[in-house]
Parts: sequence; structure tokens; C-alpha cells
Amino acid sequence: MERRSSGTKAARKALLAWYDTNRRDLPWRRTRDPYAIWVSEAMLQQTRVETVVPYYERFLARFPDVASLADAELESVYELWAGLGYYSRARNLKAAAEKIRREFGGALPPDAEALRTLPGIGRYTAGAIASIAFDRPEPVVDGNVERVLARRLGIRRAIPSRDVSKRIWDEAARLAAGPRPGDLNQALMELGATVCLPRVPRCGECPWRRGCDARAAGDAESLPRKAPRARQKPIRAAAALLLRGGRALVVRRVAGSLLGGFFELPGVELERGEEPLEVLPTRLRERLGVRVDGLEGAGAFTHVFTHRRLRLHLFRGRCDAGRIRLRGYDRHRWVSVSTLGSLPSSTLTRRAIDALVGRAGS
Ligand code: SF4
Repeated sequence: MERRSSGTKAARKALLAWYDTNRRDLPWRRTRDPYAIWVSEAMLQQTRVETVVPYYERFLARFPDVASLADAELESVYELWAGLGYYSRARNLKAAAEKIRREFGGALPPDAEALRTLPGIGRYTAGAIASIAFDRPEPVVDGNVERVLARRLGIRRAIPSRDVSKRIWDEAARLAAGPRPGDLNQALMELGATVCLPRVPRCGECPWRRGCDARAAGDAESLPRKAPRARQKPIRAAAALLLRGGRALVVRRVAGSLLGGFFELPGVELERGEEPLEVLPTRLRERLGVRVDGLEGAGAFTHVFTHRRLRLHLFRGRCDAGRIRLRGYDRHRWVSVSTLGSLPSSTLTRRAIDALVGRAGS
């Protein structure tokens, strides 16, 4: 036990010294404002640092504090999020800002347990905010930390697994239970992002090279081992870019449904064996209340969700002049093709728009 604690102390010291010299200068590292740190953490989930920087700066310029975000229209929050994807993060930020104002007097609570009662804040984000903004000794484990610690500890069992996850969180907690927990956590993530890289770790530059089990065994590249993924169910759908008077029809999914509140191109799901061009005119008429003419195929692509693999067939066509009467959507808009890409929409819809009108639609 004593040996482990002196090993932890030395590992912590080496990591912090490395971080002090090698840390990247990022905008959210120049502040201790819990709100700004929270926004950066929400944006950094699933998104690369270089992509996040301009979004973070624009977001904070428009919504500089909890109150301004709580007061904002959800649609204007989505507009600033357009292009980052995973819009549930934006929706949760806004909902959490309202709750912070209602239940915490307008300031983020410093305690990780209290932070976890907020929408969109799980164990990782709570630990990040509590340690970075409030100096609490809370651990964080993201994909980078998982990789670094699995290699350092020489964990060769496949993940995800509850035992392995517990071991990694326990080790992260031991490391964070010392001086400068926020910097320690950021150092761990930074080491994973810049040195302990997934395919080719740069062990020669690593402050932990002496105590690293995987380096000594020569199998760092193969860790962490991942359990094979469950097979995704194949599904099919069709979506159409429909023009009237040079403007494109977009429809909004009903609030509360999957991807509710997002705009998309009108579309339908396809049953097995159905030919899209045979069923699309009738189904679109049912959903939109108007006749659709001149449908032409415009390619197809595959989009992979966690449990499903969607083949989306794309079409171009025209809408007649009738009045739109929606089914399964709650709103429609006619927009210029050049502004299609700036609507609040899912990653799937953005891919469809890119395929149909090119990046000019972004
Ligand atoms: S020595 Fe290599 S494998 Fe081990 S933590 Fe450092 S970079 Fe990763």
C-alpha cells in the first residue's frame, strides 16, 4: 500500500511537471469561470479541440453566463451549435442553465454530486468541472484517460467491462487525490491527446515511460483491447430535396420525438424490398399534404448509429403549389438552398445536404 502511494505521488509529480512545460494554450485554460469550463467540456465531448475553439469563442460572446443562456431561445442556441453535431449537448446546456438559475441561485455548484443532477452532466463532466473550476479532488475518465491508464497499468482485458472500468476510475481517483487536481486531470487527458496516441504512442516523450507496463511489454499499440461490437441492424430510408420557386422545403421533427426540434429534408422509412421511387411520391404526399413531381435519384450513403446502420437514398424533385399539411412534423420552412446547412439539424441531415448541394449548403 505504502509502495503504491509513493508510486502514485511520483507519477503525479512527473505528470504535472510534464504538463507545465507541454500544455497547449487553449482558451478554456485561461479561465477559472465554472460556466466557461462547463461549456468547453460539453463541446469537447465527441469533437476535436481545433474544431471546438471558434465555436467556444462565439458561444461565450453570445451567451457569456448562465443567465443569458437560460434566457435564450433554444433555436438560437442550436444556431450557434450548427456544425458541431450531437445537438442534445446544446439542448442539455440550455436546460441545465435554467435549472442552475432555478435551484442553485444562478451559479454552478462546486460539488460533483450536485453537478450530476444537471441535464447532460455525467460522471466525467462533473469531475472535470469540480476539479478544474473548483479544485475538488474528483477523477475524470474519458477515452484518452482510459487508454493512458490501461497502458500504464497493463490492463489486457477487453473493454467495456465493469471490472476494468472500476480499476481505471479508481486509479484516476488516486491520482486526483493530491495537489492541483484540475491540472492533474487535464494533464492526463493532454498526455492521451498528444503523446499516448491510439496507434503510435510516443513513449520516448512520455513522463511515465519508466513505470509503464505496456511499454515494458512492448504491446502499447494493442491496448486498450476492445470487445467486438454488436452487429448494427440494417435499416433503409429516403429523403428528398424538394423545390418550389427556387426554395427548398425543410420540415421540423415533433418536439419530444427522437431528434425532436431539428429540421430535416422530408423523408420516409423504407420497408425491406421497397423501391424508393415507387413509394416516395405517395408517402411524401401523405406526410406533406402536397403532390411531389419530377423525383430523380441523387445517390445514397450509409450512416452508422450506435445500434443501426442506415442506408439513405437521396432524391431531387418539385412540390406543387398546394398548402402544406404536415404529418409527423410540427413545422415547415421554405429556405434558399445556400442556407440549408445553417439550420439546426442532425449530422445525418447535414450529410444528406452536403451530398445533394455540396458544401455550399454549409
Ligand atoms: S510510456 Fe508509452 S504507452 Fe506508456 S503511457 Fe507513456 S506513451 Fe503511453
